[in-house]
Amino acid sequence: MKTAKSPGAKRRGGSLLAPLLDLIYPPRCPLCGALSEEGLPCDACAVALVPLTPEEPLPGLPGCYDLLIGACLYEGVARSAVLRYKKLALRQGEAFLAARLAVAVRRAGRTAELVTAAPGSTRETKRRGYDAGARLAAAVANLLGLPFVPCFAPKAGGPQKERDRAARAAAAAELCLLPGVSERVSGRSVLLIDDVVTTGATMTACAGLLRTAGADTVTAAAFALHPQMVGESSPSPDPAQLPEEDF
Ligand SMILES: [Zn+2]
Repeated sequence: MKTAKSPGAKRRGGSLLAPLLDLIYPPRCPLCGALSEEGLPCDACAVALVPLTPEEPLPGLPGCYDLLIGACLYEGVARSAVLRYKKLALRQGEAFLAARLAVAVRRAGRTAELVTAAPGSTRETKRRGYDAGARLAAAVANLLGLPFVPCFAPKAGGPQKERDRAARAAAAAELCLLPGVSERVSGRSVLLIDDVVTTGATMTACAGLLRTAGADTVTAAAFALHPQMVGESSPSPDPAQLPEEDF
C-alpha cells in the first residue's frame, strides 16, 4: 500500500533518510535562512526582493562587455543573500541565485557559447576552501546548458572590500588569464558571471582581457547590481562609501 510522501521526501528524491535529513537540516529560505517549507523564499523575502526588469540591462563599454545584466538590486534581502552565500556557500542559496541569474540572462535575450567567472581573491578562496563566484557561474552554466570554462587566475591578496578605489583598479589591472584560454574563447561569445557588481572595475578588466584573448562578444551578468551602477547620476560608486563587507 502506498503511503503519501512528505514534501521533504519528494524534494530529496524520496529517500528513506529524508525525514531524518529534514530533522537535522530543516528546509530554509535561501535568502535569509529562516525555516521555510520546501526551501522556498519565505514570504518576507519574496516581497522584499527587488528584481531588475528585463528592460534594465546596462549598456556595455566599448572593447569590454556588450551588456551588463543583473537579476536584483544589491540592497536589502538580495545583499544579505549574497553575503550569506559567500560565507556559507549553501547549495540551496546557490541554486536560488543561479536560477535568478539564468532567468535574467534568458530574459535579456542573450546567447553565449560558454560561461566563465570573474575571479575571487586568492586569500578568500583559500580561507573558505571554495570560490563562491566560480561555483555560482558553474551552476548558471549548468542551467543554461553551456560549458563552464575557468579563464582567470585568482586575484592576489585580499578581497576588494579592503581596497580603496585606486587599489581596486590596480588589482583589476593585475588580473591574468589562465594558460590556453585564447584557444577556448577565440571567436566565441562569452557570458561572464559574478555574484555582485559594485563598482564594475573587476567586470571591466575581465571583459577587456577576454576580448584581448579573442572573444567575439562578452556579456556580463551578476545576481545583484549595486544601485549606483543602475543610477544615471553615479555609475561608479566610491568604494569608500560602500559598507565594509561589500566588495
Ligand atoms: Zn527569507
